[in-house]
Amino acid sequence: MELIVIRAFGDYFSANLTLTKLQAFGVECYLKDEYTVTIDPLLTNAIGGIKLVVKDKDEARARKLLEQFDEEYMKGATCPICGAHDFKYIAKRGVTNFVTAILTWLFSSYSIAPEHVYQCGNCGYESKNLPETIIEE
Ligand SMILES: [Zn+2]
Repeated sequence: MELIVIRAFGDYFSANLTLTKLQAFGVECYLKDEYTVTIDPLLTNAIGGIKLVVKDKDEARARKLLEQFDEEYMKGATCPICGAHDFKYIAKRGVTNFVTAILTWLFSSYSIAPEHVYQCGNCGYESKNLPETIIEE
């Protein structure tokens, strides 16, 4: 049995939120490096954030659930530039990623996590965090 990293988080709050949601769907999952990041946030980038891990047999299901969570979450977000509800979570390419990859490698973490951003599908606006989520009934 192997543990698979399915996502990395920059903060304790989002990591736990996602963990709780997956557990609610009966997926056994854990957080890795949770305490390191909480104690010393400066280490977050060096070790690649708080990692959400699942057993290899649960990987496919967990990834599917994460996709669903993201979709629901992003539907509620409004672009501050154009007002569209069309955010996508994408991997950003470029120098930053290269540096991150090297750092990740140097710190011997097995997961290389490129920087991800939320991008508005309408105007191309990018943000590290999803703009304020407005829940529409
Ligand atoms: Zn936009």
